[in-house]
Amino acid sequence: MKAKIKPGKLLINNEWCEAQSGKRFEVTNPATEEVLATVAEGDAPDVDRAVTAARRAFEEGPWKKMSARDRGRILYRFAGLLDKNRDELAELETLNNGKPIRETTQADLPLTIDAFEYYAGLADKIHGDTLPVNGNYFNYTLREPAGVVGQIIPWNFPLLMAAWKLGPALATGCTVVLKPAEQTPLTALRLGELLLEAGLPPGVVNIVPGFGPTAGAAVARHMDIDKVAFTGSTDVGKLIMKMAAESNLKRVSLELGGKAPNIIFADCDIDAAVNGAMQGIFFNQGEVCCAGSRLFIEEKVKEEFLSKLKTRAEQKLVGDPLDPRTEMGAQASAEQFHKILGYIKKGKDEGARLLTGGEAAAERGYFIKPTVFDGVTDEMAIAREEIFGPVVSALSFKNIDELTRRANNTIYGLSAGVWTRDIGKAHRMAKEIKAGTIWINCYNCFDAASPFGGFKQSGFGRELGKYALELYTQVKSVWVAMD
Ligand code: ADP
Repeated sequence: MKAKIKPGKLLINNEWCEAQSGKRFEVTNPATEEVLATVAEGDAPDVDRAVTAARRAFEEGPWKKMSARDRGRILYRFAGLLDKNRDELAELETLNNGKPIRETTQADLPLTIDAFEYYAGLADKIHGDTLPVNGNYFNYTLREPAGVVGQIIPWNFPLLMAAWKLGPALATGCTVVLKPAEQTPLTALRLGELLLEAGLPPGVVNIVPGFGPTAGAAVARHMDIDKVAFTGSTDVGKLIMKMAAESNLKRVSLELGGKAPNIIFADCDIDAAVNGAMQGIFFNQGEVCCAGSRLFIEEKVKEEFLSKLKTRAEQKLVGDPLDPRTEMGAQASAEQFHKILGYIKKGKDEGARLLTGGEAAAERGYFIKPTVFDGVTDEMAIAREEIFGPVVSALSFKNIDELTRRANNTIYGLSAGVWTRDIGKAHRMAKEIKAGTIWINCYNCFDAASPFGGFKQSGFGRELGKYALELYTQVKSVWVAMD
Protein backbone atom coordinates (compact mmCIF):
# COMPACT_ATOMS: atom_id res chain seq x y z
CA MET A 1 0.00 0.00 0.00
CA LYS A 2 1.58 3.27 -1.10
CA ALA A 3 -1.06 5.67 0.18
CA LYS A 4 -0.48 6.94 3.70
CA ILE A 5 -3.81 7.58 5.32
CA LYS A 6 -3.93 9.85 8.31
CA PRO A 7 -6.44 12.13 10.03
CA GLY A 8 -7.10 15.21 7.89
CA LYS A 9 -6.87 18.82 9.01
CA LEU A 10 -7.62 22.22 7.53
CA LEU A 11 -4.86 24.06 5.69
CA ILE A 12 -4.94 27.76 6.55
CA ASN A 13 -2.03 30.12 5.92
CA ASN A 14 0.27 27.13 5.30
CA GLU A 15 -0.52 25.64 8.71
CA TRP A 16 -2.46 22.50 9.44
CA CYS A 17 -5.12 23.10 12.07
CA GLU A 18 -8.31 21.74 13.58
CA ALA A 19 -11.72 23.30 12.95
CA GLN A 20 -12.66 26.00 15.43
CA SER A 21 -15.56 23.83 16.58
CA GLY A 22 -13.19 20.90 17.14
CA LYS A 23 -15.56 18.73 15.07
CA ARG A 24 -14.37 15.96 12.78
CA PHE A 25 -16.22 13.83 10.24
CA GLU A 26 -15.65 10.36 8.86
CA VAL A 27 -14.56 9.59 5.33
CA THR A 28 -15.32 6.12 3.98
CA ASN A 29 -14.00 3.75 1.37
CA PRO A 30 -17.06 3.11 -0.83
CA ALA A 31 -15.71 -0.27 -1.95
CA THR A 32 -15.64 -1.67 1.59
CA GLU A 33 -17.94 0.72 3.49
CA GLU A 34 -15.15 1.06 6.07
CA VAL A 35 -14.03 4.33 7.60
CA LEU A 36 -10.75 5.44 6.04
CA ALA A 37 -10.01 8.49 8.16
CA THR A 38 -11.53 11.34 10.08
CA VAL A 39 -11.16 14.87 8.81
CA ALA A 40 -11.53 18.24 10.53
CA GLU A 41 -14.98 19.65 9.73
CA GLY A 42 -14.67 23.24 8.57
CA ASP A 43 -17.54 25.68 8.97
CA ALA A 44 -18.15 29.43 8.62
CA PRO A 45 -15.53 30.58 11.20
CA ASP A 46 -12.88 28.43 9.50
CA VAL A 47 -13.81 29.71 6.05
CA ASP A 48 -13.51 33.19 7.50
CA ARG A 49 -10.00 32.48 8.81
CA ALA A 50 -9.08 31.02 5.43
CA VAL A 51 -10.41 34.08 3.58
CA THR A 52 -8.46 36.41 5.89
CA ALA A 53 -5.27 34.48 5.08
CA ALA A 54 -6.06 34.47 1.36
CA ARG A 55 -6.81 38.20 1.39
CA ARG A 56 -3.56 39.00 3.15
CA ALA A 57 -1.65 36.81 0.70
CA PHE A 58 -3.35 38.52 -2.22
CA GLU A 59 -2.83 42.11 -1.07
CA GLU A 60 0.49 41.94 0.75
CA GLY A 61 2.23 38.62 0.44
CA PRO A 62 5.14 37.68 -1.76
CA TRP A 63 2.62 36.17 -4.21
CA LYS A 64 1.61 39.62 -5.38
CA LYS A 65 5.16 40.81 -5.90
CA MET A 66 6.40 37.64 -7.51
CA SER A 67 6.84 37.67 -11.29
CA ALA A 68 4.43 35.60 -13.33
CA ARG A 69 7.33 33.45 -14.45
CA ASP A 70 8.21 32.64 -10.84
CA ARG A 71 4.59 31.70 -10.19
CA GLY A 72 4.88 29.39 -13.17
CA ARG A 73 8.06 27.90 -11.70
CA ILE A 74 6.25 27.01 -8.48
CA LEU A 75 3.49 25.37 -10.52
CA TYR A 76 6.05 23.38 -12.51
CA ARG A 77 7.71 22.28 -9.29
CA PHE A 78 4.32 21.23 -7.96
CA ALA A 79 3.51 19.28 -11.14
CA GLY A 80 6.87 17.51 -10.71
CA LEU A 81 5.95 16.53 -7.16
CA LEU A 82 2.60 15.18 -8.35
CA ASP A 83 4.45 13.11 -10.90
CA LYS A 84 6.88 11.81 -8.28
CA ASN A 85 3.98 10.80 -6.03
CA ARG A 86 1.58 9.68 -8.75
CA ASP A 87 1.20 6.05 -7.61
CA GLU A 88 0.43 7.05 -4.06
CA LEU A 89 -2.04 9.73 -5.19
CA ALA A 90 -3.76 7.31 -7.57
CA GLU A 91 -4.18 4.79 -4.79
CA LEU A 92 -5.50 7.38 -2.34
CA GLU A 93 -8.02 8.60 -4.92
CA THR A 94 -9.16 5.05 -5.60
CA LEU A 95 -9.52 4.28 -1.89
CA ASN A 96 -11.59 7.38 -1.22
CA ASN A 97 -13.70 7.53 -4.38
CA GLY A 98 -14.09 3.86 -5.40
CA LYS A 99 -12.93 4.34 -8.99
CA PRO A 100 -10.67 1.63 -10.45
CA ILE A 101 -6.93 2.06 -10.09
CA ARG A 102 -6.47 1.63 -13.85
CA GLU A 103 -8.52 4.78 -14.37
CA THR A 104 -6.82 6.81 -11.63
CA THR A 105 -3.41 5.89 -13.04
CA GLN A 106 -4.36 6.25 -16.72
CA ALA A 107 -6.76 9.19 -16.59
CA ASP A 108 -7.01 11.14 -13.32
CA LEU A 109 -3.31 11.45 -12.57
CA PRO A 110 -2.02 12.22 -16.10
CA LEU A 111 -4.80 14.77 -16.65
CA THR A 112 -4.17 16.38 -13.25
CA ILE A 113 -0.44 16.72 -13.90
CA ASP A 114 -1.12 18.00 -17.45
CA ALA A 115 -3.41 20.72 -16.13
CA PHE A 116 -0.78 22.06 -13.73
CA GLU A 117 1.96 21.90 -16.36
CA TYR A 118 -0.26 23.69 -18.86
CA TYR A 119 -1.03 26.53 -16.43
CA ALA A 120 2.60 26.67 -15.27
CA GLY A 121 3.50 27.44 -18.88
CA LEU A 122 0.64 29.88 -19.32
CA ALA A 123 1.37 31.96 -16.20
CA ASP A 124 3.74 34.40 -17.94
CA LYS A 125 1.68 34.65 -21.13
CA ILE A 126 -1.29 36.47 -19.67
CA HIS A 127 -1.45 40.06 -20.85
CA GLY A 128 -3.64 42.95 -21.91
CA ASP A 129 -3.88 44.69 -25.28
CA THR A 130 -3.03 48.02 -26.83
CA LEU A 131 -6.15 49.47 -28.44
CA PRO A 132 -6.59 52.01 -31.22
CA VAL A 133 -8.94 54.71 -29.87
CA ASN A 134 -10.24 58.02 -31.19
CA GLY A 135 -8.41 61.18 -30.14
CA ASN A 136 -4.91 61.70 -28.95
CA TYR A 137 -4.85 59.01 -26.34
CA PHE A 138 -2.90 55.91 -25.64
CA ASN A 139 -5.22 53.16 -24.41
CA TYR A 140 -4.19 49.82 -23.09
CA THR A 141 -5.69 47.08 -20.94
CA LEU A 142 -4.30 45.31 -17.91
CA ARG A 143 -5.43 41.78 -17.21
CA GLU A 144 -5.40 41.51 -13.43
CA PRO A 145 -6.18 38.58 -11.12
CA ALA A 146 -9.79 38.33 -9.93
CA GLY A 147 -8.65 38.36 -6.29
CA VAL A 148 -9.59 35.90 -3.56
CA VAL A 149 -11.46 33.00 -5.12
CA GLY A 150 -13.62 30.34 -3.51
CA GLN A 151 -13.62 26.96 -5.23
CA ILE A 152 -16.17 24.30 -4.38
CA ILE A 153 -15.54 20.94 -5.99
CA PRO A 154 -17.36 17.60 -6.27
CA TRP A 155 -16.51 14.01 -5.36
CA ASN A 156 -16.44 12.33 -8.79
CA PHE A 157 -12.97 13.54 -9.86
CA PRO A 158 -11.57 14.99 -6.63
CA LEU A 159 -7.99 15.51 -7.83
CA LEU A 160 -8.79 16.53 -11.36
CA MET A 161 -11.44 19.04 -10.33
CA ALA A 162 -8.97 20.55 -7.87
CA ALA A 163 -6.46 20.82 -10.73
CA TRP A 164 -8.92 22.46 -13.15
CA LYS A 165 -9.69 25.03 -10.48
CA LEU A 166 -6.29 25.63 -8.84
CA GLY A 167 -4.24 25.66 -12.07
CA PRO A 168 -5.73 28.77 -13.70
CA ALA A 169 -6.35 30.54 -10.36
CA LEU A 170 -2.67 30.26 -9.41
CA ALA A 171 -1.40 31.04 -12.92
CA THR A 172 -3.32 34.33 -12.88
CA GLY A 173 -2.12 35.29 -9.38
CA CYS A 174 -5.33 34.76 -7.44
CA THR A 175 -5.40 33.31 -3.94
CA VAL A 176 -7.75 30.48 -3.08
CA VAL A 177 -10.07 28.94 -0.51
CA LEU A 178 -10.75 25.41 -1.74
CA LYS A 179 -13.66 23.39 -0.36
CA PRO A 180 -13.39 19.72 -1.35
CA ALA A 181 -16.46 17.50 -1.31
CA GLU A 182 -17.20 15.98 2.10
CA GLN A 183 -17.13 12.46 0.60
CA THR A 184 -13.64 12.80 -0.90
CA PRO A 185 -11.34 15.30 0.82
CA LEU A 186 -8.23 13.09 1.13
CA THR A 187 -6.40 13.78 -2.13
CA ALA A 188 -7.07 17.52 -1.89
CA LEU A 189 -5.39 17.48 1.53
CA ARG A 190 -2.44 15.58 0.10
CA LEU A 191 -2.25 18.23 -2.64
CA GLY A 192 -1.99 20.78 0.17
CA GLU A 193 1.11 19.03 1.55
CA LEU A 194 2.70 18.96 -1.88
CA LEU A 195 1.88 22.64 -2.47
CA LEU A 196 3.80 23.47 0.71
CA GLU A 197 6.68 21.30 -0.49
CA ALA A 198 6.66 23.16 -3.82
CA GLY A 199 7.20 26.43 -1.95
CA LEU A 200 3.82 28.11 -2.24
CA PRO A 201 3.78 31.19 0.03
CA PRO A 202 1.44 31.22 3.07
CA GLY A 203 -2.24 31.93 2.45
CA VAL A 204 -2.15 31.40 -1.32
CA VAL A 205 -4.06 28.11 -1.16
CA ASN A 206 -6.21 27.35 1.86
CA ILE A 207 -8.14 24.09 2.04
CA VAL A 208 -11.27 23.80 4.17
CA PRO A 209 -12.98 20.41 4.05
CA GLY A 210 -16.54 20.39 5.33
CA PHE A 211 -20.14 19.96 4.27
CA GLY A 212 -21.97 21.85 1.54
CA PRO A 213 -24.68 23.71 3.46
CA THR A 214 -22.14 24.84 6.11
CA ALA A 215 -18.60 25.26 4.76
CA GLY A 216 -19.70 25.45 1.10
CA ALA A 217 -22.40 28.00 1.79
CA ALA A 218 -19.96 30.05 3.90
CA VAL A 219 -17.72 30.30 0.82
CA ALA A 220 -20.58 31.27 -1.51
CA ARG A 221 -21.86 33.88 0.96
CA HIS A 222 -18.57 35.35 2.10
CA MET A 223 -18.36 39.12 1.73
CA ASP A 224 -14.65 39.12 0.99
CA ILE A 225 -14.47 36.47 -1.71
CA ASP A 226 -14.30 38.05 -5.17
CA LYS A 227 -15.24 35.04 -7.24
CA VAL A 228 -16.69 31.59 -6.67
CA ALA A 229 -16.14 28.65 -9.01
CA PHE A 230 -18.37 25.65 -8.51
CA THR A 231 -18.64 22.18 -10.01
CA GLY A 232 -21.54 20.00 -8.91
CA SER A 233 -25.25 19.53 -9.33
CA THR A 234 -27.50 22.04 -11.10
CA ASP A 235 -29.64 22.44 -7.97
CA VAL A 236 -26.68 23.42 -5.82
CA GLY A 237 -25.34 25.60 -8.65
CA LYS A 238 -28.52 27.65 -8.47
CA LEU A 239 -28.09 28.03 -4.71
CA ILE A 240 -24.49 29.17 -5.17
CA MET A 241 -25.56 31.84 -7.65
CA LYS A 242 -28.30 33.02 -5.32
CA MET A 243 -25.92 33.23 -2.35
CA ALA A 244 -23.37 35.09 -4.47
CA ALA A 245 -26.04 37.58 -5.56
CA GLU A 246 -27.41 38.09 -2.06
CA SER A 247 -24.00 38.66 -0.47
CA ASN A 248 -21.45 40.74 -2.38
CA LEU A 249 -22.35 39.97 -5.99
CA LYS A 250 -19.17 37.93 -6.37
CA ARG A 251 -18.50 36.59 -9.83
CA VAL A 252 -19.72 33.07 -10.44
CA SER A 253 -18.77 30.24 -12.77
CA LEU A 254 -20.69 26.99 -12.75
CA GLU A 255 -20.00 23.57 -14.24
CA LEU A 256 -23.16 21.58 -13.57
CA GLY A 257 -25.11 18.52 -14.61
CA GLY A 258 -25.63 16.91 -17.98
CA LYS A 259 -27.74 14.43 -19.91
CA ALA A 260 -25.61 14.06 -22.98
CA PRO A 261 -26.89 12.57 -26.23
CA ASN A 262 -24.52 10.01 -27.68
CA ILE A 263 -25.72 9.66 -31.28
CA ILE A 264 -25.16 6.53 -33.33
CA PHE A 265 -25.83 6.89 -37.06
CA ALA A 266 -26.27 3.72 -39.12
CA ASP A 267 -23.26 4.60 -41.28
CA CYS A 268 -20.78 4.60 -38.38
CA ASP A 269 -18.13 2.02 -37.51
CA ILE A 270 -20.43 0.06 -35.22
CA ASP A 271 -17.73 -1.62 -33.14
CA ALA A 272 -15.97 1.68 -32.50
CA ALA A 273 -19.31 3.23 -31.55
CA VAL A 274 -20.09 0.40 -29.13
CA ASN A 275 -16.71 1.09 -27.52
CA GLY A 276 -17.61 4.77 -27.41
CA ALA A 277 -20.98 4.08 -25.84
CA MET A 278 -19.31 1.92 -23.18
CA GLN A 279 -16.73 4.64 -22.48
CA GLY A 280 -19.45 7.24 -22.53
CA ILE A 281 -21.55 5.73 -19.78
CA PHE A 282 -19.39 3.36 -17.74
CA PHE A 283 -16.22 5.44 -17.36
CA ASN A 284 -15.92 6.42 -13.69
CA GLN A 285 -19.02 4.30 -12.88
CA GLY A 286 -21.09 6.81 -14.84
CA GLU A 287 -20.37 9.49 -12.23
CA VAL A 288 -19.44 11.92 -14.94
CA CYS A 289 -21.32 15.13 -15.74
CA CYS A 290 -20.66 14.63 -19.46
CA ALA A 291 -21.69 10.93 -19.45
CA GLY A 292 -23.37 9.80 -22.69
CA SER A 293 -26.54 8.77 -20.88
CA ARG A 294 -28.99 9.18 -23.76
CA LEU A 295 -27.99 6.80 -26.47
CA PHE A 296 -29.78 7.78 -29.69
CA ILE A 297 -29.44 4.91 -32.17
CA GLU A 298 -30.60 5.05 -35.78
CA GLU A 299 -33.44 2.57 -36.05
CA LYS A 300 -32.00 0.29 -38.71
CA VAL A 301 -28.91 -0.60 -36.64
CA LYS A 302 -30.48 -0.53 -33.21
CA GLU A 303 -30.87 -4.25 -32.76
CA GLU A 304 -27.32 -5.06 -33.84
CA PHE A 305 -25.90 -2.22 -31.75
CA LEU A 306 -27.74 -3.09 -28.56
CA SER A 307 -26.93 -6.76 -28.82
CA LYS A 308 -23.20 -5.90 -29.00
CA LEU A 309 -23.54 -3.36 -26.21
CA LYS A 310 -25.31 -5.88 -23.97
CA THR A 311 -22.54 -8.46 -24.49
CA ARG A 312 -19.83 -5.92 -23.73
CA ALA A 313 -21.64 -4.56 -20.68
CA GLU A 314 -21.96 -8.06 -19.28
CA GLN A 315 -18.25 -8.70 -19.81
CA LYS A 316 -17.21 -5.60 -17.92
CA LEU A 317 -15.20 -6.48 -14.81
CA VAL A 318 -16.82 -4.82 -11.80
CA GLY A 319 -15.06 -5.28 -8.48
CA ASP A 320 -12.17 -4.38 -6.19
CA PRO A 321 -11.03 -0.93 -7.36
CA LEU A 322 -7.45 -1.65 -6.27
CA ASP A 323 -7.18 -4.67 -8.56
CA PRO A 324 -5.50 -3.49 -11.79
CA ARG A 325 -7.79 -5.73 -13.87
CA THR A 326 -10.96 -4.07 -12.56
CA GLU A 327 -12.80 -1.99 -15.15
CA MET A 328 -15.56 -0.52 -13.02
CA GLY A 329 -15.40 0.20 -9.30
CA ALA A 330 -17.83 1.33 -6.62
CA GLN A 331 -20.17 4.30 -6.68
CA ALA A 332 -18.71 7.03 -4.51
CA SER A 333 -21.22 6.98 -1.64
CA ALA A 334 -24.18 5.16 -0.14
CA GLU A 335 -26.38 8.11 -1.09
CA GLN A 336 -25.36 7.91 -4.72
CA PHE A 337 -25.74 4.12 -4.76
CA HIS A 338 -29.33 4.37 -3.50
CA LYS A 339 -30.14 7.23 -5.83
CA ILE A 340 -29.03 5.19 -8.85
CA LEU A 341 -30.96 2.10 -7.74
CA GLY A 342 -33.97 4.40 -7.29
CA TYR A 343 -33.68 5.53 -10.92
CA ILE A 344 -33.39 1.94 -12.09
CA LYS A 345 -36.63 1.13 -10.28
CA LYS A 346 -38.27 4.21 -11.77
CA GLY A 347 -37.16 3.16 -15.26
CA LYS A 348 -38.79 -0.23 -14.81
CA ASP A 349 -41.94 1.31 -13.29
CA GLU A 350 -42.24 3.69 -16.22
CA GLY A 351 -42.16 0.77 -18.64
CA ALA A 352 -38.60 0.77 -19.96
CA ARG A 353 -37.13 -2.66 -20.71
CA LEU A 354 -34.07 -3.67 -18.74
CA LEU A 355 -31.62 -5.18 -21.20
CA THR A 356 -28.90 -5.94 -18.70
CA GLY A 357 -27.73 -5.04 -15.19
CA GLY A 358 -30.18 -3.18 -13.03
CA GLU A 359 -28.98 -4.30 -9.60
CA ALA A 360 -26.20 -4.14 -7.05
CA ALA A 361 -23.10 -6.08 -8.08
CA ALA A 362 -21.81 -7.12 -4.64
CA GLU A 363 -22.89 -7.85 -1.09
CA ARG A 364 -20.63 -5.20 0.34
CA GLY A 365 -19.57 -1.88 -1.13
CA TYR A 366 -21.55 0.37 -3.44
CA PHE A 367 -21.18 -1.61 -6.67
CA ILE A 368 -23.81 -1.50 -9.42
CA LYS A 369 -23.88 -3.64 -12.56
CA PRO A 370 -23.50 -1.87 -15.90
CA THR A 371 -27.11 -1.20 -16.83
CA VAL A 372 -28.76 -0.73 -20.22
CA PHE A 373 -32.42 0.18 -20.70
CA ASP A 374 -34.16 -0.30 -24.04
CA GLY A 375 -37.64 0.88 -24.99
CA VAL A 376 -37.08 4.26 -23.36
CA THR A 377 -39.17 7.25 -24.42
CA ASP A 378 -38.10 10.89 -24.24
CA GLU A 379 -40.59 11.62 -21.45
CA MET A 380 -39.32 9.03 -18.97
CA ALA A 381 -37.36 10.23 -15.96
CA ILE A 382 -34.38 8.05 -16.96
CA ALA A 383 -34.23 9.94 -20.29
CA ARG A 384 -34.58 13.40 -18.77
CA GLU A 385 -32.86 13.45 -15.37
CA GLU A 386 -29.20 13.11 -14.58
CA ILE A 387 -28.67 9.71 -12.90
CA PHE A 388 -24.91 10.00 -12.43
CA GLY A 389 -24.42 6.27 -12.54
CA PRO A 390 -23.75 3.37 -14.92
CA VAL A 391 -27.22 3.47 -16.46
CA VAL A 392 -27.79 4.22 -20.13
CA SER A 393 -31.14 4.83 -21.85
CA ALA A 394 -31.38 3.63 -25.45
CA LEU A 395 -33.65 5.68 -27.73
CA SER A 396 -34.12 5.24 -31.46
CA PHE A 397 -34.50 7.77 -34.28
CA LYS A 398 -35.40 7.72 -37.97
CA ASN A 399 -34.16 11.01 -39.40
CA ILE A 400 -31.72 13.77 -38.60
CA ASP A 401 -34.19 16.62 -38.09
CA GLU A 402 -36.23 14.70 -35.57
CA LEU A 403 -33.00 13.61 -33.90
CA THR A 404 -31.58 17.13 -33.58
CA ARG A 405 -34.77 18.41 -31.99
CA ARG A 406 -34.91 15.52 -29.50
CA ALA A 407 -31.19 15.62 -28.68
CA ASN A 408 -31.54 19.32 -27.83
CA ASN A 409 -34.76 18.81 -25.90
CA THR A 410 -33.09 18.89 -22.48
CA ILE A 411 -32.39 21.48 -19.81
CA TYR A 412 -28.71 20.50 -20.04
CA GLY A 413 -26.02 21.15 -22.64
CA LEU A 414 -22.64 19.97 -21.51
CA SER A 415 -21.55 17.53 -24.19
CA ALA A 416 -22.58 15.19 -27.00
CA GLY A 417 -21.15 12.31 -29.01
CA VAL A 418 -21.70 11.77 -32.75
CA TRP A 419 -20.79 8.53 -34.54
CA THR A 420 -20.84 8.57 -38.35
CA ARG A 421 -18.52 8.13 -41.32
CA ASP A 422 -20.25 11.01 -43.12
CA ILE A 423 -18.04 14.01 -42.44
CA GLY A 424 -20.66 16.56 -43.51
CA LYS A 425 -23.26 15.09 -41.21
CA ALA A 426 -20.78 15.02 -38.34
CA HIS A 427 -19.99 18.74 -38.66
CA ARG A 428 -23.63 19.61 -39.13
CA MET A 429 -24.42 17.89 -35.84
CA ALA A 430 -21.47 19.61 -34.14
CA LYS A 431 -23.03 22.91 -35.14
CA GLU A 432 -26.60 22.09 -34.23
CA ILE A 433 -26.22 20.37 -30.88
CA LYS A 434 -26.40 22.90 -28.07
CA ALA A 435 -23.55 21.73 -25.87
CA GLY A 436 -20.10 22.88 -24.79
CA THR A 437 -18.20 19.84 -26.08
CA ILE A 438 -18.91 17.67 -29.12
CA TRP A 439 -17.02 14.44 -29.60
CA ILE A 440 -17.05 13.06 -33.17
CA ASN A 441 -16.20 9.35 -33.39
CA CYS A 442 -14.73 9.53 -29.89
CA TYR A 443 -15.95 10.18 -26.36
CA ASN A 444 -14.57 11.57 -23.09
CA CYS A 445 -11.50 13.15 -24.68
CA PHE A 446 -9.91 15.81 -22.48
CA ASP A 447 -6.87 17.99 -22.72
CA ALA A 448 -5.76 20.92 -20.58
CA ALA A 449 -5.71 23.07 -23.74
CA SER A 450 -9.32 22.42 -24.76
CA PRO A 451 -12.20 24.27 -23.04
CA PHE A 452 -14.88 22.50 -21.05
CA GLY A 453 -18.21 23.86 -19.83
CA GLY A 454 -21.89 24.00 -20.45
CA PHE A 455 -24.76 25.53 -22.36
CA LYS A 456 -28.15 26.07 -20.68
CA GLN A 457 -28.49 24.63 -17.17
CA SER A 458 -25.18 22.83 -17.45
CA GLY A 459 -23.70 26.13 -16.31
CA PHE A 460 -21.57 28.91 -17.71
CA GLY A 461 -17.93 29.85 -17.98
CA ARG A 462 -15.32 27.65 -19.61
CA GLU A 463 -12.67 25.81 -17.68
CA LEU A 464 -9.33 24.72 -19.15
CA GLY A 465 -7.25 26.23 -21.90
CA LYS A 466 -6.87 29.95 -22.28
CA TYR A 467 -10.61 30.22 -21.79
CA ALA A 468 -10.27 29.68 -18.04
CA LEU A 469 -8.23 32.88 -17.79
CA GLU A 470 -11.47 34.80 -18.31
CA LEU A 471 -12.79 33.25 -15.10
CA TYR A 472 -9.85 34.28 -12.95
CA THR A 473 -8.89 37.68 -14.33
CA GLN A 474 -10.49 41.05 -14.77
CA VAL A 475 -9.69 43.65 -17.36
CA LYS A 476 -8.77 47.23 -16.57
CA SER A 477 -8.75 49.92 -19.27
CA VAL A 478 -6.06 52.59 -18.88
CA TRP A 479 -6.19 55.93 -20.77
CA VAL A 480 -3.20 58.22 -21.17
CA ALA A 481 -3.57 61.69 -22.67
CA MET A 482 -0.79 62.18 -25.21
CA ASP A 483 -1.02 65.99 -25.46
P1 ADP B 1 -23.89 16.00 -5.64
O1 ADP B 1 -25.32 16.38 -5.57
O2 ADP B 1 -23.50 15.39 -6.91
O3 ADP B 1 -23.36 15.33 -4.40
P2 ADP B 1 -23.31 18.59 -4.94
O4 ADP B 1 -23.61 19.61 -5.96
O5 ADP B 1 -24.23 18.39 -3.80
O6 ADP B 1 -23.07 17.29 -5.72
O7 ADP B 1 -21.87 18.78 -4.32
C1 ADP B 1 -20.79 19.38 -4.98
C2 ADP B 1 -20.07 20.28 -4.01
O8 ADP B 1 -20.98 21.28 -3.57
C3 ADP B 1 -19.56 19.59 -2.73
O9 ADP B 1 -18.31 20.17 -2.37
C4 ADP B 1 -20.63 19.95 -1.72
O10 ADP B 1 -20.15 19.97 -0.40
C5 ADP B 1 -21.01 21.35 -2.17
N1 ADP B 1 -22.34 21.77 -1.73
C6 ADP B 1 -23.45 21.01 -1.56
N2 ADP B 1 -24.48 21.75 -1.11
C7 ADP B 1 -24.03 23.02 -0.99
C8 ADP B 1 -24.61 24.26 -0.56
N3 ADP B 1 -25.86 24.33 -0.16
N4 ADP B 1 -23.83 25.36 -0.59
C9 ADP B 1 -22.54 25.30 -1.00
N5 ADP B 1 -21.94 24.18 -1.40
C10 ADP B 1 -22.64 23.04 -1.40
